[in-house]
Amino acid sequence: MASEPLVRVEDLVKIYRMGGQELRALDGVSLSIELGDFVAIMGASGSGKSTMMNVIGCLDRPTSGRYFLEGRDVARMSVNQLAEVRNRQLGFVFQSFNLLARTSALENVELPMIYAGVPARERHARAAEALRRVGLGERLDHTPAQLSGGQQQRVAIARALVGRPKVILADEPTGALDSRTSVEVMALLQELGREGITIVLVTHEPDIASYASRVLTMRDGRLLSDVRQTPHVAAVTQVTEGAEATA
Ligand code: ADP
Ligand code: MG
Repeated sequence: MASEPLVRVEDLVKIYRMGGQELRALDGVSLSIELGDFVAIMGASGSGKSTMMNVIGCLDRPTSGRYFLEGRDVARMSVNQLAEVRNRQLGFVFQSFNLLARTSALENVELPMIYAGVPARERHARAAEALRRVGLGERLDHTPAQLSGGQQQRVAIARALVGRPKVILADEPTGALDSRTSVEVMALLQELGREGITIVLVTHEPDIASYASRVLTMRDGRLLSDVRQTPHVAAVTQVTEGAEATA
């Protein structure tokens, strides 16, 4: 199965029924994502980007169509198997960071490992390592309120990384950030991409999509175009330890 793409979807349809109305959030999408791709999913609000991301992230099931993750038919996975895939293979990042308030960066990053039953010692070590990796090794004890927006998103990225995922799924990760901070977050994602992590990023901003090596554009639940490009390099010299912007 070595030649199987990481993600392969065929004719995905997602229908929402509301008050007798049918809404096709996905209307026949077929595509593959290879290991190591850095994909941006673009499109206007309501075009189906988040629905697509939620299906790829096994957070939602399509109404019809097929989804193979590394050759495995996702429709045949049990609830437990799906949870395991989400915990072990996928890391999620959202626009609103989704961090617990009054909880340190370290504890926020430890949270998924608490659910996964990782012993405390290993949990601390891995969380600290993930935070160092995103340039926040000096801020382990800070709560979200004591961090800038960009730093909060980096904590969320560290939390996505602790499970050692193959794929990071990021839905509008820069949507709540100013443009300079957005570039910092994109530089970090590009760095993770260079380390071999597959990245699927939803954005409606062309500037942000320019950092990806492949842009999928959606309209009305359909895939309008699929373009490979030379990515812009996010112009931040280093987002790693010691080089972060002052808070
Ligand atoms: P995007 O992320 O591109 O803004 P979405 O995937 O969130 O778009 O939504 C696509 C369409 O599906 C929109 O018209 C949206 O209103 C609709 N939709 C999304 N989620 C639901 C839901 N849970 N129930 C009903 N309609 C939904
Ligand atoms: Mg969305």
